[in-house]
Amino acid sequence: MNTASGRIDSLYCGSGVDGAGLRCVVFFSGCNLRCPFCHNPETLYKEGNKTTVAELVQKLERYKGYFRRGGVTLSGGEPFLQRAFYLSLCNALHEKGIRVCAETNGHLADPACIAAADSLICDIKNQETDDLSVYEKFFEECRKQGKEVRVTNVLVPGKNDSEGKLTALAKMMCGCRIGSEIRFLPFRKLCEDKYKELKIPFLYAAVREADTDDIAKAERIFYQNYQK
Ligand code: SF4
Repeated sequence: MNTASGRIDSLYCGSGVDGAGLRCVVFFSGCNLRCPFCHNPETLYKEGNKTTVAELVQKLERYKGYFRRGGVTLSGGEPFLQRAFYLSLCNALHEKGIRVCAETNGHLADPACIAAADSLICDIKNQETDDLSVYEKFFEECRKQGKEVRVTNVLVPGKNDSEGKLTALAKMMCGCRIGSEIRFLPFRKLCEDKYKELKIPFLYAAVREADTDDIAKAERIFYQNYQK
């Protein structure tokens, strides 16, 4: 029995957006970042539930019929942070014939963690910084390993929707030869109540939510600059 253990916040079976096909998502506890727009602050500020790989795989197997054409997505928090648990879980899921997608912030370009996933989703956190070098390192490792990476970016009005930010993002992705596919996710404030519950200030409370026009404009600027 696999007794490697780690801490997870929760398990959600029913996602159609966290990787290919229908997915069960495991939200790991803990993250190396503190993004002010984080949708899952409970994974950052709560200790999480201790679980072994064997227990978790047993639970996930119950939903195997449901995610037959998809798989399991390891998200968080930052799944690479609990390295031993993450690697052991990937291994155990593969033994059961279950495909694994890792959803990461790309700041830990750990070759073994990247290798253990069948596919990856990397969410670019450029809302408070112009430095994208960390992603170059991550994408370089993914490319070296021939891994499929989907790129997402939470579009926050006034933070990362400027022509300069979007152009820099397009140029970085083009330079990394990671492909031009990007999904801009509109900034939403649905998580505000979670912050209230945790008694933590929601630093983007005064920032407006992004709408479909913002997304369309961002896509236009991004793709205009991708090949330049
Ligand atoms: S990387 Fe993700 S989980 Fe971590 S703080 Fe940022 S948004 Fe939250």
